[in-house]
Amino acid sequence: MTDVLVVGSANADLVVAAERRPGAGETVLGGDTTVLPGGKGANTAVAAAKLGADVALLGAIGDDAYGRLLTESLHGAGVRTELLRTVDRPTGIAYITVTPDGENSILVSPGANSALEPDALDGAFARVKVVVASMEIPLPTVERAVAAAADAGALVLLNLSPVAELAPRTLAALDVLLVNEHEAAALLGSGVAPGKLLDLGPRSAVVTLGARGALVLTEDGATEIAAPRVEPVDTTGAGDAFTGALAAALATGVTLETAARKAVRVAAISVTRRGAQPSYPSAAELEGR
Ligand code: ADP
Repeated sequence: MTDVLVVGSANADLVVAAERRPGAGETVLGGDTTVLPGGKGANTAVAAAKLGADVALLGAIGDDAYGRLLTESLHGAGVRTELLRTVDRPTGIAYITVTPDGENSILVSPGANSALEPDALDGAFARVKVVVASMEIPLPTVERAVAAAADAGALVLLNLSPVAELAPRTLAALDVLLVNEHEAAALLGSGVAPGKLLDLGPRSAVVTLGARGALVLTEDGATEIAAPRVEPVDTTGAGDAFTGALAAALATGVTLETAARKAVRVAAISVTRRGAQPSYPSAAELEGR
């Protein structure tokens, strides 16, 4: 039995610090480039596996150095990759410019991720406890993954980041819709109470609130969970840490609220360290806190 199957993206993050971002027609010299394994799907899978869950990633990479970097990182965390396809496109890359004000600007070249067709999902969902679908892959693949996972009887989570317009039946097939507060506002309109997310169809929802923690919405009502106070160093991939930890906890059979309490602790640790995947804690580290 697989605890968590993640359907989503894998990217190499090419990060460079610069005094300012170049304008049109301009060349700016920056610092050295750091290459880090990333992509929302791969990040989520790594976060869940580091906590001890049996995790597989269904995604697509290219036959190139960045694809090998991602495979190594996934294997290092214990993520199974038999459903990670190598396709005839370059591995996805996120070009990230970081300026001294701490702002990131990110250009994503999806590459192999955009070749993840719905037929890649055939037969993938048997004997899986929790399926996490994430974006940055073709929308028809996301929608098929949610439907097939629900049909197979898995618990179905979707991290709707970035927000896209989904068929009502996709939203209605979700056990948990996961968004941050900006995404909740984009879905509902600003000023609308997040509780209205359940009107879109999912059985429950979690809204992450950055340094304030997370809001859990179920048919029984709303519960706010405070985040531990930490000195943030790099919040890249915090939402993915949260999603992976939530999925790993749900696979053990705990309630959504209990799973979210663990996920805020995991995500808070992740923001105290650089990078996404390298910043995620192990189960042993979490217990030692
Ligand atoms: P995203 O990274 O998707 O924008 P958030 O910013 O809401 O999502 O962060 C996701 C989770 O990461 C939060 O629910 C919280 O648990 C944790 N987190 C983020 N920023 C901080 C912070 N400054 N202090 C503590 N925890 C944080």
